[in-house]
Amino acid sequence: MNTDPITAIVAGNMCTGCGACAGAFPNAIRMIEDPVHGRRPVVENTGAGRQAAKSALAVCAGVSSDWSDLQLEDRIDADWGPVLGAWEAWASDPEIRRQGSSGGAVTALACHALSAGTADGVAHIAARRDDPRLNEAVISKNREGLMRGTGSRYAQASPAETLGKIARQNDQVVFIGKPCDVASAHQAMRSQADLAAKIPLTIAIFCAGAPNLKATERLLDRLEVPKNANVVDLRYRGNGWPGMMQAMWKDPQGILHKSKNITYAEGWGKYLQSERRWRCRICSDHTGAFADISVGDPWHAPPSGEQDKGRSLVIARTKRGKEFIEAAIRGKALVAVPRPRDVIAQAQPNLKNTHGAVWGRSLAIRAVGLRAPRTLGQPLFSLWMGLPLKQKIQSVLGTWKRILRERLWRKVIISDIQK
Ligand SMILES: Cc1cc2nc3c(=O)[nH]c(=O)nc-3n(C[C@H](O)[C@H](O)[C@H](O)COP(=O)(O)OP(=O)(O)OC[C@H]3O[C@@H](n4cnc5c(N)ncnc54)[C@H](O)[C@@H]3O)c2cc1C
Ligand code: SF4
Ligand code: SF4
Repeated sequence: MNTDPITAIVAGNMCTGCGACAGAFPNAIRMIEDPVHGRRPVVENTGAGRQAAKSALAVCAGVSSDWSDLQLEDRIDADWGPVLGAWEAWASDPEIRRQGSSGGAVTALACHALSAGTADGVAHIAARRDDPRLNEAVISKNREGLMRGTGSRYAQASPAETLGKIARQNDQVVFIGKPCDVASAHQAMRSQADLAAKIPLTIAIFCAGAPNLKATERLLDRLEVPKNANVVDLRYRGNGWPGMMQAMWKDPQGILHKSKNITYAEGWGKYLQSERRWRCRICSDHTGAFADISVGDPWHAPPSGEQDKGRSLVIARTKRGKEFIEAAIRGKALVAVPRPRDVIAQAQPNLKNTHGAVWGRSLAIRAVGLRAPRTLGQPLFSLWMGLPLKQKIQSVLGTWKRILRERLWRKVIISDIQK
């Protein structure tokens, strides 16, 4: 049995699937799409594999993250990570705005980074061309490539796999990912000055949890896509805000079919969210505290229909993130309306409670001898104290129930059955 630290992190339900370890050591560690456990690293069972896994620990934010070097000035920062400024914004390019998950702000910022010469490339994820149920990490150098990333993909993805490639070449590359992906990128940049010098900007999307391939299959069933059909497109969001979930598939004669479509609320609520991994339930950063910029939905002012003109909530996390947003507004890549800093709490009330529950969940899981990620410098206890009594108790008792129901003491073993 391989007992290297990366395999132990996966086995103990602490891997987020970011891909940073595999990106750093591609000859010894590779990401596997496990239909239940998610996209997870498998380490070559050799001395070289174990050595690579030991070194990869330095870039893994799945097992621990450190908030001590973040500037937390007040209660808003303590709850959400640094918030230097907030805007409701959308791409001025109408096609980007339409195809974007919210208002296409992430793609507009990325396009601006390329056109303004801030970066030579942008690392992000996109649906795989040969199988859009799965995602791949890519580095795009033009608008066309970036358009492949528009719209949230409520499925497993490992953008930090690109970090190794970024380190090995000379280009300046913007990094886009979920908060856990950006946390690993931040960890890697903190320990590798040469990598940090090649990443002029990081952008995180807000994230309540990444469903597995089983969830995607349930969604395809609901969309009435025939089993084993040749799926050629799968949209979870976009084409308006929040957008409809819909697939395209080809029959054996090569004829293209459009599936049924369902609302984002139905797809997420009934088919996707229940398949989030345990690691997502003990995630203490759903809004990208380590990024330069983070982007989510302004749910405090929701769309009136299913395919309205989109708006994104854009948060500046660092000075360079704020300067970049202001430059993108001046450069007319982004249309933006400034909002008060506490708009993030109004937009994402559920995520604040989720952050608070993590302290209770971690306490409960440690009390029975299981591991929870270390969150140095993050004031989680005070968030937990702010929860109503019922939710405090629920965070502990609910975790013990889940441990029994999901048998969380069992080691996660990744089955290598996907490409
Ligand atoms: C799993 C998941 C959970 C989410 N949960 C929340 C939430 O709780 N609250 C909320 O407000 N919003 C949530 N979102 C939506 C997300 O925050 C929006 O994508 C964000 O508002 C950006 O919209 P946009 O139109 O500006 O981005 P776009 O211009 O459409 O660009 C989206 C960018 O996100 C990247 N991306 C898409 N899917 C993934 C993925 N799975 N992993 C890594 N990168 C990805 C793409 O590469 C692209 O660059 C979630 C998205 C995902 C994928
Ligand atoms: S969290 Fe990321 S770096 Fe850590 S083991 Fe998982 S894939 Fe590797
Ligand atoms: S909930 Fe947290 S750990 Fe899970 S995918 Fe989102 S950012 Fe990563």
